[in-house]
Amino acid sequence: MIACAAGEVEYLRFDRLGQEAAVSHAVFTRRGGVSAAPFASLNASISTGDEPAAVHENRHRMAAVLGLPLISTRPVHDDTVVVVRPEGTGHAWVDRLRATDADAMITDASGFGLFWAFADCVPILLYDPRHHAIALAHGGWRGTARAIAAKTVRAMSATFATKPADLLAGIAPAIGDCCYRASDAMLERFHANDEAWASACFTERPADAPGNDGPGTYLDLRAANRRQLLAAGLRPECIEMAEICTGCRRDLFYSHRMERGRTGRFGVAIGQAS
Ligand SMILES: [Zn+2]
Repeated sequence: MIACAAGEVEYLRFDRLGQEAAVSHAVFTRRGGVSAAPFASLNASISTGDEPAAVHENRHRMAAVLGLPLISTRPVHDDTVVVVRPEGTGHAWVDRLRATDADAMITDASGFGLFWAFADCVPILLYDPRHHAIALAHGGWRGTARAIAAKTVRAMSATFATKPADLLAGIAPAIGDCCYRASDAMLERFHANDEAWASACFTERPADAPGNDGPGTYLDLRAANRRQLLAAGLRPECIEMAEICTGCRRDLFYSHRMERGRTGRFGVAIGQAS
């Protein structure tokens, strides 16, 4: 990924996706905002307990970097994919979307950025240059265990006639297997879904292995989502994965798990200019 800055705001962009003139994207770090500790500083979410005015200013800064207004659904750790279609001239469709439960957004419309706030869950960005369609998916462990990445690709194929081999993908920083010990419930959920189980990345670590979260079974969520994209038909050279663990790099990103819930969320956005 490429490190970028706009004023105080520091963000990353994917190499390959960044070469596409028609699409704007950004993976914001926690740097360059106005929130105070423990949300310092570019917190993107009011659900954390941060000052709403600070989050508002932070989101304003992020929208300015993207050059587009930001829209979102309400992510609920499920596997629903929603097709985003602007309706009418007002903001009613944006408000309706905000109240819609969905963990993946796909669209071939322009003039706004698909946006969510993250802290450990896997942000997955997709772009179909042939059909000018984009997607943002939220791959938490529950969504990954329901094959959200593969379902998002299939939804793009069904809706925009996307060929998976045309897709460019970016897998943004998320919690790494270094910091993510899996519970029995996680293993069971993955096992219950054939597609997710086939792409799951669990490793056993003995008691004396290096690492910072003790012995046990560890889950690599980014790798699991990458495998789902490959199984869905994406070409390996078209998937760029950030080798950054949010748990290890709390100077750059927020980690819900490693900061024990008292932290912010970093923004991830992708959109097409009108
Ligand atoms: Zn880590």
